[in-house]
Amino acid sequence: MQGWLSLTLDRRQARRLSRLAFALLAGGTAHTLVCWLVLQWGFFRGDKDVFYPLFALIWCGHAAFLLFVRLGGNRRLRDPAMTEPLMLWSTLALLASTVFLEQGRLCVMGFFFAILQQGVFRIRQIQVIRMGTVAVGGYALVLAGLHATHTGLFDARLEWSQWLLFAVVTGAMVVLAGEIGAIRLRLGERNEQLTELLERIRNLAVRDELTGLYGRRHAMELLAKTCGQARRGAFTLGVAFVDLDHFKRINDRHGHLFGDRVLVRFAELTRRYLSERDVAARLGGEEFLLIMPVNDLSEARATVAGLMDALRAQRFMAAPALEVTASAGLTVVGADEGPDAVLVRADRLLYEAKAAGRDRIVAAPP
Ligand code: GH3
Ligand code: MG
Ligand code: MG
Repeated sequence: MQGWLSLTLDRRQARRLSRLAFALLAGGTAHTLVCWLVLQWGFFRGDKDVFYPLFALIWCGHAAFLLFVRLGGNRRLRDPAMTEPLMLWSTLALLASTVFLEQGRLCVMGFFFAILQQGVFRIRQIQVIRMGTVAVGGYALVLAGLHATHTGLFDARLEWSQWLLFAVVTGAMVVLAGEIGAIRLRLGERNEQLTELLERIRNLAVRDELTGLYGRRHAMELLAKTCGQARRGAFTLGVAFVDLDHFKRINDRHGHLFGDRVLVRFAELTRRYLSERDVAARLGGEEFLLIMPVNDLSEARATVAGLMDALRAQRFMAAPALEVTASAGLTVVGADEGPDAVLVRADRLLYEAKAAGRDRIVAAPP
């Protein structure tokens, strides 16, 4: 059966279907069995002529539920688990059978508590109240109908005292469901807070606080991962070390806060001038790492050049005459290279760019 359930179904839908199948098969069988025993003892009014058509109808309803979910009709519903409709249908099936029971009515209505227990964690308190009202009210209507027509062996005092017991227990269960609902709500809120907190912690661990770019540790992990993919031939990987020129001087002349603003602006430019699949990270101070899946070295060079041109063209309100430049050492990952070798080469190329007068890219293949 598990195969039939999971065939072409996603996991959630398969889980819903198996839960529904279990509830209907187990609950339906227990209900049918108790009523069948009552029938055997001769207390089922109308005997087999009523019992078989009635339970054929009930089982058709169960099967219709299963078929509906199997065909995916539930996906469009607000609650795809169909908890409330299922509870309502099962309760109505119980009530329908109690009309014909001369004995054991309370015993059959007792199955309602199993129905309620199935739904208590999934539906809201108002829905639990509604279900309780349907069961207690429906039970009362059945008794009132039988009382009025004086059908069969109706012992009014016994029947109504049993109803009262049922109503009291149902009421207690509704109150309990309310408390469970409140706990569930609190847990849900707590869960949301925890998820938010986890996201913030993750960001703190992964991102550089000032610029919002990835930090050194995460950049190294990403580089190792993408290096592996590049080695497997998925793409060529361009790696650049970019270091802002004479940054200490900028700090000294315009202040540390202004220096921070320059770093943030550079980070914004990386977001604008790199493509979605590229990664920019701040390794520390005014030193950045760019990881770019590309076709070849010249494509990577064009990207870095675009970024550096944009930085040079950038104007700052607090220092309108200031032109910020950067130097870059650029390379691509070789066939059998790991991240360390690439970083050493990019660092050497950056050093060459600085030595050659700054504001330039020095690029070299492996
Ligand atoms: P070069 O062109 O050779 O790279 O010279 P440079 O002055 O940029 O390099 P150096 O390594 O001498 O100085 C880097 C400066 O960056 C020194 C440090 O005070 C500054 N710095 C490091 N982190 C931060 C930061 O978070 N904010 C600011 N405003 N400055 C920083
Ligand atoms: Mg520098
Ligand atoms: Mg530096």
